[in-house]
Amino acid sequence: MSELLTADRIDEIGATGPGSPDPAALVTELVSAVDEGRVADPADTGYALLVAADILRQAGDLADALALATRAIAEQPDDDAYARAVRAGLLLRLDRTDEGLAELTALRPLLETDPDAAYLIDELAGAGHTDTAVEWLTGALDVLLERSRAQQHESEDAQDAAAAMIYGLAQQRHDLREDMGLPHDEYDTLADRLRDAASHALDALDDGPATLLFWPKAEFDALLVRWPALAESYPTTWDGHRAQIERAFVETSGLGGTGLGVVAGSVDGLAAFAGTEPIDEETLDEYADSLEDTGVTSWPPGRNDTCWCGSGTKYKKCCLPRSRA
Ligand SMILES: [Zn+2]
Ligand SMILES: [Zn+2]
Repeated sequence: MSELLTADRIDEIGATGPGSPDPAALVTELVSAVDEGRVADPADTGYALLVAADILRQAGDLADALALATRAIAEQPDDDAYARAVRAGLLLRLDRTDEGLAELTALRPLLETDPDAAYLIDELAGAGHTDTAVEWLTGALDVLLERSRAQQHESEDAQDAAAAMIYGLAQQRHDLREDMGLPHDEYDTLADRLRDAASHALDALDDGPATLLFWPKAEFDALLVRWPALAESYPTTWDGHRAQIERAFVETSGLGGTGLGVVAGSVDGLAAFAGTEPIDEETLDEYADSLEDTGVTSWPPGRNDTCWCGSGTKYKKCCLPRSRA
């Protein structure tokens, strides 16, 4: 029993531990390595204790899990937010509600700054405090959306990071509220739209170079007048249409997609293309394909170049910020 406990072994126990036939033996393996100073990288000491605490928690031994989480905090005083959240979740499950909420409340600002802070919500919701979890997610989204509206000049990396956080918080909130049986509100609709844009982006990646069908302003308005049923397939406003395309491209390029661009549709062109066929999403896709020979406006333009949407405004002042609004 003198071998070192490696990070790989801790990962392995963490992945299989709770379902293993003898979880207690795995807890012993982890804790004795800590007790005897056999953790290969001493920086993993807290991690080993938290994995052991998680196995105990899932086995229903909350008191011993709490003791290990408390010890993990003491072992890693510089990097203890996750350990404190785990400990707080255990306090909540032990009905030490005031202590647990106080600990989590101290960590709550991380929701606005740390992309990994979803674990705070998992602890709250996992212990049955779903109302509070939703309230905190709403508050964090309010702050992040306001910040992204106000700070149009921050770096692209910072904007991408904020967009990713908004995406994650909105999905987590949407799914919690769905489990609670609540009807969609404004942020749930946002979550759905972001998810649709991301999945369109993934579909587009599968298809190779991605061309999206774009309707210039006058055509967009005429389109929905002529085929009102298409309102189901599009955002309600032209700005929403532009933003959806921009977001899909941002997602696709973030995933490594290249060859992106738009083809511009026209109502008369679509009517001529479809003939007597019904105008549905399949027809729209085929129509978009048919336009590729006549000219694709590639994406993205340079920041100071004219925007792809045809507004005549510089990209950086037009659809570039629109994707984050
Ligand atoms: Zn939904
Ligand atoms: Zn534009």
